[in-house]
Amino acid sequence: MKYKFATHAIHAGQSPDPYSGAVITPIYQTSTYEQESPGNYGQYNYSRMTNPTRTAFEDCIAVLEKGKYGLAFSSGMAAIDTVMRTLKPGDEVVSSTDLYGGTRKLFEEVYKRNGIRFHYVDFSKLEEITAVINENTRWIWLESPTNPLLKISDIAGIAKLARQKGTKLGVDNTFASPYLQNPLELGADLVMHSVTKFIGGHSDVIMGALVVQDEDLYEDLKFYRNASGGIPGPQDVFLALRGIKTLPLRMQAHCRNAQEIAGFLDGHPAVEKVFWPGLESHENHTVAKQQMRDFGGMVSLLLKDADKETVFRKIEKLKIFTLAESLGGVESLINHSSSMTHVSLSDAEKEKAGISENLVRLSVGIEDIEDLLQDISQFLE
Ligand SMILES: *Cc1c(COP(=O)(O)O)cnc(C)c1O
Repeated sequence: MKYKFATHAIHAGQSPDPYSGAVITPIYQTSTYEQESPGNYGQYNYSRMTNPTRTAFEDCIAVLEKGKYGLAFSSGMAAIDTVMRTLKPGDEVVSSTDLYGGTRKLFEEVYKRNGIRFHYVDFSKLEEITAVINENTRWIWLESPTNPLLKISDIAGIAKLARQKGTKLGVDNTFASPYLQNPLELGADLVMHSVTKFIGGHSDVIMGALVVQDEDLYEDLKFYRNASGGIPGPQDVFLALRGIKTLPLRMQAHCRNAQEIAGFLDGHPAVEKVFWPGLESHENHTVAKQQMRDFGGMVSLLLKDADKETVFRKIEKLKIFTLAESLGGVESLINHSSSMTHVSLSDAEKEKAGISENLVRLSVGIEDIEDLLQDISQFLE
């Protein structure tokens, strides 16, 4: 059915329970299902393979990402891990220098050891990507916007390049959410989400998802997930399904509040630089405008003339923004990237990635904007 996004967010994959008429998809807390005769079962056999609560979520996320097939995972990392399991020794992956830390760790400390080769280049330059692609390249893996500098890659341009070179493109769409950006429509082969973030939306569940168009790729991924078992339990899926229903409303509020905050920070005497893709001064604003419907709830900033101690002191003053890892929940969070999300990088790597001591990242929540602005204002004093 062709409905609009907000209708799909509430109804796709979900219809009243055929057994009881329950309007909301029940938590099917069962590991196994009765068979009519040995080996003769319907859609459900064993919950590592399929579970009705999980199927509802998978069908919903597939529709929201404009794909055919959805797969849910126990975490975002389990989703990426399953993509990497499709590779064999000698295969290569091209990714960007400012990759999510956990993904980089998975590539460098797990899959490199298994004979997979990874290249990291600047994704704002197509020629850098082209230069490292060869006959062994199987995946291009990108994030847009990136963490924490919110750089935007030209997904359609990179998808075209991937097609020309006969490699697949996977997009980690966690920072945008399907409400703001649909990479499959821009030519990507696969979309990945840390459902933990905007889709779950309430900081109460760890979960991941993949969405694809191609049936063979789907069958492969489903096979590897079932083989290694990184599935979410039905209670977590229920929370994700509950969260996803309000994704459009929450994203509108996140974007509205982030815009106000970015505007307030931009040009403030205590601020050296603001990173938000919606600002005209943002280096990738034009591409962002082309491929995103709005610019998201993440805002990063450099504090002017502030050493680490000054930044820490300022963070302590915050009353609404909570100092914590993660993002995308209804509550506002602040992160000191250099000591938190990116702490494992060496000083040289931090400098190369632009992770300086005076950089903080805000996950702007959906609280009242006047209260948030007041909190930010006294934080900057
Ligand atoms: C959080 C995150 C992940 C990992 O997801 P988990 O649910 O924590 O496993 C991957 N990519 C990005 C961009 C993320 O923010």
